[in-house]
Amino acid sequence: MKPRKKPSQRKRALLQKEIHSICPFCQSQEVDTFEVHHLNENPDDDRFENELMVCPTCHAKINVGTIPRNDVYKMKEALMKVSEQQKNLSTNCPAPHDGIIQINHGDNVVQAAGQVTIKMPRGRRAKAAVPVSGVIGTSPKERAYVKHLYDRLFDYKKAIPGYDDARAGRIVARYIREAFGSTWSYVPIDRFDALVKLLQEKIDETPLGRKHKKNGTKPYSSFEEFLNK
Ligand SMILES: [Zn+2]
Repeated sequence: MKPRKKPSQRKRALLQKEIHSICPFCQSQEVDTFEVHHLNENPDDDRFENELMVCPTCHAKINVGTIPRNDVYKMKEALMKVSEQQKNLSTNCPAPHDGIIQINHGDNVVQAAGQVTIKMPRGRRAKAAVPVSGVIGTSPKERAYVKHLYDRLFDYKKAIPGYDDARAGRIVARYIREAFGSTWSYVPIDRFDALVKLLQEKIDETPLGRKHKKNGTKPYSSFEEFLNK
């Protein structure tokens, strides 16, 4: 894999300022650990509007899809709107301003100086941001089954001592990116079988997967069983 270009210090500072040094999704304040997410998932696209600073846990959740892509886009859009408004506020009214800007993501609220409230859609109910046809993300049955395998693999990885959400999420996302060059929802539908095979093999290789094999039990349903459930 090609090593990721690291954002410059100045860029990091701007991105950190944009989120007021608080992870926009979980309010974590451990800025030293924060990572830069690329909205279109192209790490070479380092335009400011393509980057959002988040904590490593939320970064993993974005990669897994637990935080929907659409929410990420909306959050960035909202934050950019807020900075735009703050710029106008500071030029138009020199007096100190004590209004509040709220950006709600689920139960989380980010507050900043200003005077706007921007509501974010809650969690998983949000639709995928970019409607693309012919990919797994927009094929309901295949999507549901891949999610079933993905969640299983994620849980089995997380069960390994020393693994947390962030680490498990990063690893699972990497398997798919290395094999298919994107996140699972953007894998073309004609590569569904290959993606299923990869996820099943990776589940089988985990300690819990091996345990199932030894006991003669199955760690996941086949696609057919899954559809008939
Ligand atoms: Zn976070």
